[in-house]
Amino acid sequence: MTTKTEQLIREGQAVVMNTYGRLPMALVKGEGSWVWDMEGNKYLDFVSGIAVNSLGHRHPAVIQAIQKQTEEILHTSNLYWIPKQIELAKLLVDHSFADKVFFCNSGAEANEAALKLARKYAKLHYGPEKYEIISLKNSFHGRTLATLTATGQTKYQAGYEPLPEGFFYAMLNNIADITGKISSKTAAVILEPIQGEGGIIPAEPEFLQAVRKLCDDVGALLIFDEVQTGVGRTGKLFAHEWTGVKPDIMTLAKALGGGVPIGAMLAKDSVAEAFKPGDHASTFGGNPLATAAGCAVLNVMLEEGFLEDVQKHAEYFKGELQKLADKYQTGEPVRGKGFLLGWPVAKRGPELVNGCREKGLLINFAGGKALRFVPPLNVSFAEIDEAVKILDEVFASIWNA
Ligand code: PLP
Repeated sequence: MTTKTEQLIREGQAVVMNTYGRLPMALVKGEGSWVWDMEGNKYLDFVSGIAVNSLGHRHPAVIQAIQKQTEEILHTSNLYWIPKQIELAKLLVDHSFADKVFFCNSGAEANEAALKLARKYAKLHYGPEKYEIISLKNSFHGRTLATLTATGQTKYQAGYEPLPEGFFYAMLNNIADITGKISSKTAAVILEPIQGEGGIIPAEPEFLQAVRKLCDDVGALLIFDEVQTGVGRTGKLFAHEWTGVKPDIMTLAKALGGGVPIGAMLAKDSVAEAFKPGDHASTFGGNPLATAAGCAVLNVMLEEGFLEDVQKHAEYFKGELQKLADKYQTGEPVRGKGFLLGWPVAKRGPELVNGCREKGLLINFAGGKALRFVPPLNVSFAEIDEAVKILDEVFASIWNA
């Protein structure tokens, strides 16, 4: 007998472009840290739409903000001022290094905007020769032509050549390597404080401090791609707050809209003013619906104690994962910060992910290197214990099989 899911997959394969390696399931309902598939199976969601549903599914504050906005207006245009856009920009500015915000609809667009702003700024202040962008090997910055060129992994670039000019790649946490690559022609360095898609690999604070100084020495801008690490994910509003190093530009997306698509590019005034009317734009960027959701998300995360709670729960979870890693002798330690955690496994990654799914826990395998855990930030201790129990069972049956 054909299940509803099998029927759906057949229909999907007929009409949806084949760009994703999808699991054979469809999630149709969510509540808090839990989701249900079409067949009625229930799962603990430690993927969170890849770090998007950071307040869990159907958080009342987000639902209420969206509902209220639908009763007023969904979309206007950036031909006019948008009150919710200003409110969200204020929240971001008040809680970051930045003075100005540009809104768009995704992480790739936010990075595209950052790269454009950096080149514009460099040309204005230093002339046409300063256009080079340095990114890091094993990074991920998006799928537009410029952002996949900035992405330091050739597998994402193959087939799309010729790629935009002027991109160079340095090694993460290798100060000598990036020192040799940065020059007076460098317009910007772009990096993730913790490489997400690359397998949850944190940049060391000393590396970030050195890159900050190198950028300052040659008049290059430092861009932090916080699309995955930002908006509470690591237990601070932005991951770079753990390091004491501030960027000139920061990009956000994923969690910012609580599930509604939104991206943002933030900069200091001195940098932002390189953009003049007409230099960059987005039809949907910062529209009333997306920014209403964004305000709701930030207002919850800025409540007293919220981020401290994230830190407490995440430290507990990391400790429990490490205990399992020791028990099964999986090798390298569990890494990452807050609720952006990677458990490196040198074998059986996809099998482990599937084993968890069969027992009701959704996780994924990042960069072919580590099991990635990105639960909702407000996941409970009991839900963490449930996930740990499932992981224990799955490792017991699969790891040494
Ligand atoms: N930057 C980082 C660090 C990401 O993790 C991602 C997506 O995974 C992107 C950029 C691209 O974001 P989007 O898929 O919203 O374009």
